[in-house]
Amino acid sequence: MRHTQVLIIGSGPAGLTAAVYAARAQLSPLVIEGEPSSTSDQPGGQLMLTTDIENFPGFPEAVSGPELMARMREQALRFGAELQVSRVQRLDVAERPFRAWLSGDGEEPSVSADAVILATGARSLMMGVPGEDRLLSHGLSTCATCDGFFFRGQDIAVVGGGDSALEEALFLTRFASSVTVVHRRDELRASKIMQQRAFDHEKIRFRWNTVVTEVLGEERVEGLAVRDTVTKAEGGLDVTGVFVAIGHVPNVTLVEGSVELENGGYVRTGPGSLTSVEGLFAAGDVQDHVYRQAITSAGSGCVAAIDAERWLEARGH
Ligand code: NAP
Repeated sequence: MRHTQVLIIGSGPAGLTAAVYAARAQLSPLVIEGEPSSTSDQPGGQLMLTTDIENFPGFPEAVSGPELMARMREQALRFGAELQVSRVQRLDVAERPFRAWLSGDGEEPSVSADAVILATGARSLMMGVPGEDRLLSHGLSTCATCDGFFFRGQDIAVVGGGDSALEEALFLTRFASSVTVVHRRDELRASKIMQQRAFDHEKIRFRWNTVVTEVLGEERVEGLAVRDTVTKAEGGLDVTGVFVAIGHVPNVTLVEGSVELENGGYVRTGPGSLTSVEGLFAAGDVQDHVYRQAITSAGSGCVAAIDAERWLEARGH
């Protein structure tokens, strides 16, 4: 078993920013990046699924998600972080040093750590219909703040009936000609105030009792195939963009049952990145159900590294 002072789990903006800071603090962090086994949690996190990022400060000409992550990786390596493509299968935070079982480990864990920074992110729930995977980032998006700008003057759809869906719909009215909210029931789950704002907006329409059965288009979104959940009638929706806003799930499997969660399953943090387990810090979307931006995630990774450094120092490490 090898020992590290700081184990960072996750290689999105939170994990890699934590790695840059921890490495520059001479803590020789070990980053377990994840494995490229599925689209939702390949190394680099959700930004690996994003095309142009225009709102990350410092990149006035925009930067692609994968390029931004490659640069963060390079920066972490430059200061001495160790990055390993593997997955943490199990994490024991009941006693210190913490222990982590990586892919391929048997009974015995291969890593022990004085402090752990959990940066495992979150994933958007997807509809699971044909065309969805293929057209992700080609007219289909899960983040209006990130991609809304690319849909100027277009007719677009937002799928979902919660606060996220209406927030996305309202935001998208700045760019789109029309926004159609496609909801599977005839009643919204969103808060009343959001409902009122959406009902009052001239660009927002509603398709009630409707589910998407296919996202149409080869290279880009060209429309949606839909079904009425009451009449069962099949139909279509003429849009060139679709935003899926049916909820997010934080990736908390590793710490479920051992750390306090809040707000529907996100790791509770505060002050700063401290969790309910001493020595375990959390950063990025795994603990943020509100902002979920690359830049806020990176910022919280910095916070976690500084918190971990101070915590280790106070314990004489
Ligand atoms: P949510 O409240 O769970 O809403 C998800 C919506 O997607 C629901 O309307 C649900 O339909 C629909 N849905 C789920 N699975 C679906 C599927 N497979 N196909 C079609 N539709 C599906 O999630 P959220 O909107 O992301 O919000 C999460 C939490 O964050 C909530 O507590 C919310 O209040 C909060 N939030 C707050 C704000 C704000 O205050 N500004 C903004 C965003 C989020 P049903 O209604 O039929 O279940």
